[in-house]
Amino acid sequence: MTELIDHWIAGAPAGATPERTGAVFNPATGERTGTVAYADGSDVDAAVSAAATAQREWKRASLAKRSSVLFAFRELLNAHADELAAIVTAEHGKVLSDAAGEVQRGLENVEYACGIPNLLQGGFSENASTSVDVHSTRQPVGVVGVISPFNFPAMVPLWFAPNAIACGNSVVLKPSEKDPSAALFLARLWQRAGLPDGVFNVVQGDKVAVDALLEHRDVKAISFVGSTPIARYVYETGTVHGKRVQALGGAKNHMVVLPDADLDLAADAAVSAGFGSAGERCMAVSAVVAVDPVGDELVAKIAERMGKLQVGDGHRSCDMGPLVTAAHRDRVASYVDAGLSAGAELVVDGRGVDVDGAEGGFWLGPTLFDHVQPEMSIYADEIFGPVLSVLRAPTYDDALTLVNANPYGNGTAIFTENGGAARRFGEEVEVGMVGVNVPIPVPVAQFSFGGWKDSLFGDSHAYGPDGIRFFTRTKVITTRWPDPSHGGVNLGFPQNS
Ligand code: NAD
Repeated sequence: MTELIDHWIAGAPAGATPERTGAVFNPATGERTGTVAYADGSDVDAAVSAAATAQREWKRASLAKRSSVLFAFRELLNAHADELAAIVTAEHGKVLSDAAGEVQRGLENVEYACGIPNLLQGGFSENASTSVDVHSTRQPVGVVGVISPFNFPAMVPLWFAPNAIACGNSVVLKPSEKDPSAALFLARLWQRAGLPDGVFNVVQGDKVAVDALLEHRDVKAISFVGSTPIARYVYETGTVHGKRVQALGGAKNHMVVLPDADLDLAADAAVSAGFGSAGERCMAVSAVVAVDPVGDELVAKIAERMGKLQVGDGHRSCDMGPLVTAAHRDRVASYVDAGLSAGAELVVDGRGVDVDGAEGGFWLGPTLFDHVQPEMSIYADEIFGPVLSVLRAPTYDDALTLVNANPYGNGTAIFTENGGAARRFGEEVEVGMVGVNVPIPVPVAQFSFGGWKDSLFGDSHAYGPDGIRFFTRTKVITTRWPDPSHGGVNLGFPQNS
């Protein structure tokens, strides 16, 4: 028997006795470490009902009260960052330093939300018309559903919950069933920070829980992060049910290397961004586009660095951990076979990797393909693992055409020493987040995060200013207090005078 990983509703574990459950593993050993409850419609109903009840009070909490809770949560998250990172490593597999980085990037969004008194400041026009004043306010939308992917079990919930809560909403989080424990750790921290019970809830589970959130009449907004087919489905289903939806999807992130680039810097970046978190990042670099004539030299430098990477249990000081599940590892490994049969050149084969860890772990080592063609599945599909493809482009224009033809548009980077070329790329590339000599350009919390094309459905990016807009409705109030200028009945359309 393993521990049951429960829902968290109205400030306590739900005490679920679920009909359906899922297995949670330590990916570095392959051992089953937990059993996660799968919510049915009634569990989701209980969570939404608790959230709706709590939100009726929470929306009235003063901005000072809300920011004091956020500051307290910030302190607690900071103090317990190592524990949270260890929970992430235990269920996801990424190395501890990487898990700690994820917690820090989440914390950044808590700090942003601490500024909620400023962020919610509206506008005011005195005497917009004679003796008429107009002001705008932003008010919470109500209950927000957050549905998160396996690859950032702490950071992605922290992209959304702090801003949603700061704006006066309540949250029902449905984390990935593959690594569900981080969400419960966050729930306990929110409670200790003084957040009223019911404002932050967690329902565990799969599609059944997601569908129940998408269809629930009391859920007003959905923030989703995951793969493109599910993001599209969540966007379409949620909007059909009258909700505002932001659904962030998958990616194929290109790193363009121009002939004048510092090739050592570019090779370091390609290896870091390609194999960090075993390639299980939506901003991972999965396609390097080498503009002639740098290909051969760049590939040699990348391969040389890959040879030094230590793969193993993320609790030890390795560079790269296992993949999240055996099934995902097998799927990613199948792409190595597919690349070979399609005729790509396998420069480094991760299938026989020497691992510092248990035999049963879900291992696949860093893998490098060269001379990849756009029609090959290793390029066309999001692999979401440690498989890096190098494509060759004769010119900058060919590289740009390749990037822009890709259906995904999450992140991209250009490596060059030429400011004019970098500027032109920033203007011409059809991708939402662009790095110049920065391989993983995840925007800081005061900007917003989001891709273009098939990497995002909806018109709102995550966190930052877009996050505040997404979690609020604007209201404009036009006011006139009676005074002697009041001129009686007038059936004309109101005009400013
Ligand atoms: P996923 O789409 O399989 O799952 C995401 C969430 O949706 C999970 O909570 C899951 O339980 C739920 N879900 C899965 N199948 C569903 C279905 N049929 N109906 C309803 N809900 C369903 O994604 P994942 O494997 O957990 O995460 C990896 C994916 O997420 C990659 O494609 C990656 O690029 C993407 N991702 C994108 C971003 C971004 O910001 N754009 C960030 C992180 C991850």
